[in-house]
Amino acid sequence: MVKKAMEAALDLPGNASSTHKAGREARRLIEAARAQVASLVDAGPRAVIVFTSGATEANNMALRGSGCERVIVSAIEHPSVLSTPGIEITPILADGTLNVFALDKMLEGNDRPTLLSVMLVNNETGIIQPVEAVVEIAKRRGALVHCDAVQAAGRIQVDIQKLGVDYLSLSAHKMGGPQGAGCLIMANCVNVSPLLLGGGQEKGLRAGTENVAAIAGFGMAAELAIQDMAKMQLLAALRDELEQKLSQFAPDIRFFGKDASRVSNTSLFAVPGMPAEMQLIALDMEGVFVSNGSACASGTVKTSHVLAAMGVTGGEAQCAIRVSLGWNSTAEDVECFLAAWEKMHARVKSRRGTA
Ligand code: PLP
Repeated sequence: MVKKAMEAALDLPGNASSTHKAGREARRLIEAARAQVASLVDAGPRAVIVFTSGATEANNMALRGSGCERVIVSAIEHPSVLSTPGIEITPILADGTLNVFALDKMLEGNDRPTLLSVMLVNNETGIIQPVEAVVEIAKRRGALVHCDAVQAAGRIQVDIQKLGVDYLSLSAHKMGGPQGAGCLIMANCVNVSPLLLGGGQEKGLRAGTENVAAIAGFGMAAELAIQDMAKMQLLAALRDELEQKLSQFAPDIRFFGKDASRVSNTSLFAVPGMPAEMQLIALDMEGVFVSNGSACASGTVKTSHVLAAMGVTGGEAQCAIRVSLGWNSTAEDVECFLAAWEKMHARVKSRRGTA
């Protein structure tokens, strides 16, 4: 359905800024998508949604454009947040959640305009972060809050009004939409300075002709994400079964974030002596696609800053792989993964035995 929505948009010749009929039709598609995205996160009537090229741009826009003098971010944020100049980093506990006490301490006596940026779900561990507690601290200390909800949307309920955050970033491709589309949502009438200048699109907040097909696909993905939310919850049983079977094959396996509250589709684990790179290649050859840590930054195998922030040693972190289930993953898919993983593990064990 996402593809169909995009194809229908591609069939339109109009530029959404044109006042002729074709332009008005393109505009109608953009505004329909805005309503679909608003509905996914329960954005109220005062919220402003700016379509962007993705969450990387949305994060950059919020962190660089809020006008705040101090920007404090958690140590496990996406690189698009962590690359902001002059930021201060707030630590993470060993269980993978934000240390809210340390954050509160950093704000003691603060009298400068401050923005806090904390993701709702971490992209490597799947651990849900205490964003509501961050908002409580922010309100008490007079700070604004940005939330990268990329990994949460479509997996758990994201209600911008309930969360109480000021800025929220989303990415279409993490919820079954096209790559290269996302948005920054501003609740509570907060403002932002545009990153891109030179056109009045998106209420002057994001210059450049809109990518109507990508936006229409994003809107449809958001609508479907609401419908498919219940299916995402069912994945927890599959994920738990996967982890239980892996523990039987490899009793020395460690699952990161197992005791914290996690989204249902993610499992991040390491087995000592089984480097992630070796696992990725061996599983790829069996037609099983997994990631080491974060797929956004992959291509290179580097130690995860998320696991480092949780106090995991470099050697163990180098062995961590992440399995993500999709809403349409089945018990057969899990069996297929387990068969490939067991084969690989047996090979490694027999090599170790003969070494
Ligand atoms: N934030 C998080 C948590 C992500 O996982 C990603 C990438 O998937 C991004 C931001 C960047 O999103 P995009 O690929 O839309 O730029």
